[in-house]
Amino acid sequence: MPLSHRSTLTQYLIEQRRRFPGASGDFNALILDVALAAKAIARAVAFGELGSHLDVQGDTRQPLDVVSNQLFTRMNDWGGHCAGMASEAMDEPYQIPPQHPRGKYLLVFDPLDGAGNIEVNLSVGSVFSVLRAPQAVVDSGRDVTAADFLQPGAVQVAAGYALYGPTTMLVLTVGNGVAGFTLDPNLGEFMLTHPHIRVPADTQEFAINASNSRFWEAPVKRYVDECLAGKTGTRCKDFNMRWIASVVAEVHRILMCGGVFLYPRDSKDPATPGRLRLLHEANPIGFIVEQAGGRASTGRQPVLGVQPTSLHQRIGLVFGSRIEVERIERYHTEPARDDLASPLFARHSLFRA
Ligand code: MN
Repeated sequence: MPLSHRSTLTQYLIEQRRRFPGASGDFNALILDVALAAKAIARAVAFGELGSHLDVQGDTRQPLDVVSNQLFTRMNDWGGHCAGMASEAMDEPYQIPPQHPRGKYLLVFDPLDGAGNIEVNLSVGSVFSVLRAPQAVVDSGRDVTAADFLQPGAVQVAAGYALYGPTTMLVLTVGNGVAGFTLDPNLGEFMLTHPHIRVPADTQEFAINASNSRFWEAPVKRYVDECLAGKTGTRCKDFNMRWIASVVAEVHRILMCGGVFLYPRDSKDPATPGRLRLLHEANPIGFIVEQAGGRASTGRQPVLGVQPTSLHQRIGLVFGSRIEVERIERYHTEPARDDLASPLFARHSLFRA
């Protein structure tokens, strides 16, 4: 096979590391372990109903989300890079087993996002975030607690996702832009295919679960109404709507061709202000999108500035093309009288009065 002119993920990481002459190499090894987990999950997903996915201990057939969680923890707990992990699939932090050394990073992940898509053979993905473990954890080697993970997204060291679509891709930021890698099934290597991913600043596409519209807050309702009004409305252009029901696939689509995604805070379940998880989903996605020149927000503030208060905290999330996200943020700050311009909302007001 002729040598490819493309870089591998390993080459990319080595080149990135040269920017930090003092770096130990632990970080690169951690990312390569995450990439190995992604490759293993990609294989498990590819067999689908053929069901060759076994749990990592033996031969019991397990649901793919369970297998994916096992692969993520198993591939990353032995190398001495992690002080602990937090998975969307586990209530409590995962402790590095005592036979393995503990490292200086915290790995946070959603091992199989959009798992409902699996049954219908549509795209799913994994998303991950790398944080520094608090110094006290590194010094003592103690077990990690949920509090150790409660760091705002702005301090993430790296974030990325793997998308198991027609091809498997790994999209990564180490804080120096966003790079996309495509898994070469012949070599089993992630090859650099998208070196400088940028979200287009403007868009004519939005993604939202419209079945929740009766629960939306006024600024979101206003934004979507204006998109739907198209050329004849205040936006003076027609929009398309997309909904893939896997946030990893949604973020990938937006990185490739622009758009805005909303899973806003709504009134559907007053106990959970928002649907997506701050630490496992919103923060890594926010970091990636902002490193690609886009914007990620709760609607009220940049998502990366939110101080987490619990491990599985949920939050409203709006991300994508910068100009659209800024518009949605502006709608959240403008006085409510603007909403009366929407006849639908005015009717709601009448009922409420
Ligand atoms: Mn998820």
